[in-house]
Amino acid sequence: MRYHILTLFPEMVMQGLHASIIGRAADRGVISLEAVNIRDYADNEYGKVDDYPYGGGAGMVMQAEPIYRAYRAVADRLERSPRVLHMTPQGQVFTQRMAEEFAGEEDLIFLCGHYEGIDERVLEEIVTDHVSIGDYVLTGGELPAMVMIDAISRMIPGVLNNQGSAMSDSFQDGLLEYPQYSRPREWRGREVPEILLSGHHANVEKWRHEQSLLRTRERRPDLLGE
Ligand code: SAM
Repeated sequence: MRYHILTLFPEMVMQGLHASIIGRAADRGVISLEAVNIRDYADNEYGKVDDYPYGGGAGMVMQAEPIYRAYRAVADRLERSPRVLHMTPQGQVFTQRMAEEFAGEEDLIFLCGHYEGIDERVLEEIVTDHVSIGDYVLTGGELPAMVMIDAISRMIPGVLNNQGSAMSDSFQDGLLEYPQYSRPREWRGREVPEILLSGHHANVEKWRHEQSLLRTRERRPDLLGE
């Protein structure tokens, strides 16, 4: 998977993603990360890429042409037009299922907005998917892009040391994951459930499944409706 992030804040995205598991996957070449600075495609010497909204109103709007040029630079280099995910609170809310679907792509372009958003005309021209990370408004699309890249990368073989762990995670089977315990066996008067010490694999699996159901019913009953 090759990620291409069109942004006004390339260092924010690269610093955030070059740590921990995703950073190590990039170092090993399992994924690649490229931040494209939209300002580099400004048509003026000041690197100005925003302007006042037609019709008036608060804030500034990111202009169409620098974004289009930044996109073209990536698409021309790749000699094809990959999927372009526009980070926006007006998009479809991102889910584990979408992470799995996007993980099947060879290249993904993330378009990060700022200020009041982006001139609609370039969105009509290049965007394939409008995606949100939830019903709240952030200052920019960089954090949403990082959230999605993290979730998508976990679905790519070779990113996690133990791919099996991703398969038992919450949402993978429509349920929340069962509770986890580690050493010590007793902590401040709280014991690890006896069954986990039994070594009886089938019983452990049964207990975990029951716990998943209980937890989902308690915390996210909406998931059981699906
Ligand atoms: N005026 C826009 C609106 O009302 O829909 C909000 C613009 S927001 C202040 C600036 C940028 O942050 C957006 O262009 C988008 O890229 C990003 N953003 C904000 N909230 C987001 C969310 N929940 N999911 C994805 N991107 C978001």
